[in-house]
Amino acid sequence: MHIVACVKQTPKSDNVKIDPATGCLIRSGAASAMNPFDEYALEEAVMLKEQLGGKVSVITMGPPQAEAVLRDSIARGADTVYQLGDMAFAGSDTWSTSYALSKGIEKINEIEPVDLIICGKQTNDSDTGHIGPQVSAWMKWPNAAFVKKVVSVNEKSITVERLTEDGSEILELPFPCVLSVVKDINSPRVRSVKGRIAAKRAEVTKWTADDVAADKNKLGMKNCPTRVVKSFVPKREVCSACVEGATAKEKAAKLVEILKENKYI
Ligand SMILES: Cc1cc2nc3c(=O)[nH]c(=O)nc-3n(C[C@H](O)[C@H](O)[C@H](O)COP(=O)(O)OP(=O)(O)OC[C@H]3O[C@@H](n4cnc5c(N)ncnc54)[C@H](O)[C@@H]3O)c2cc1C
Repeated sequence: MHIVACVKQTPKSDNVKIDPATGCLIRSGAASAMNPFDEYALEEAVMLKEQLGGKVSVITMGPPQAEAVLRDSIARGADTVYQLGDMAFAGSDTWSTSYALSKGIEKINEIEPVDLIICGKQTNDSDTGHIGPQVSAWMKWPNAAFVKKVVSVNEKSITVERLTEDGSEILELPFPCVLSVVKDINSPRVRSVKGRIAAKRAEVTKWTADDVAADKNKLGMKNCPTRVVKSFVPKREVCSACVEGATAKEKAAKLVEILKENKYI
């Protein structure tokens, strides 16, 4: 089985400033790491490889420093890593990013057919949760989002449990397909010493937009359909209230009333 995990380098802290002119996050200067959800995506890919045999490839679209998350992926059990690092990709929105990733995965698929793509549920910077489903749309492969468990897997299909608004559901997807996963799915492993050494020596394949035959009219801030009209950091307001009542039951009933009034429940 050949599995591709999509990982993004994101700021470690949530204290990232927004450029008021472009509406983009100011990422320079912020310490970065693998997006937390992507650790779970990669771990699931490595676990499936260990169970079924095969190979894990990892792809990222990002600036030169994003190479660090690819080396980290090798330390965590990936076999080959690819970076889409051309300036033509810079400033892309989710539509453009998913297009670029799908072109990169198409090229990986030409080198060695891909059975499964695994993404994290969302990132901790842009936070849209779009990329997994959008990559599946570009690839025209079936998708399951919010996957919390792999129930079973065989040569032809994978059966997963995914979270829904009111519980969960079981879906069987034929290969090739795309999953995006939540943190319940596994516990990412600690990087081994052997893995860390392999990470230092690993070869990172770097592709430009031309290398993956991407249409440049679909890439970059100028060509993407999203326009950031306004971005701002919301003010944090802390307020408190005391719920009065003679008994615990009375207080609980009042609390429920307040929560309903404010549409929290
Ligand atoms: C107008 C505009 C300009 C932007 N300019 C920039 C910019 O200059 N630089 C910048 O970094 N971002 C920029 N962004 C944000 C960028 O578009 C998003 O980070 C990107 O599209 C992914 O969306 P997301 O972070 O919400 O991912 P989500 O959809 O929340 O991520 C889900 C999963 O998809 C995968 N994934 C997401 N992004 C990547 C990636 N890049 N490589 C591999 N896997 C990935 C991961 O597995 C992740 O867990 C811009 C956004 C807009 C709207």
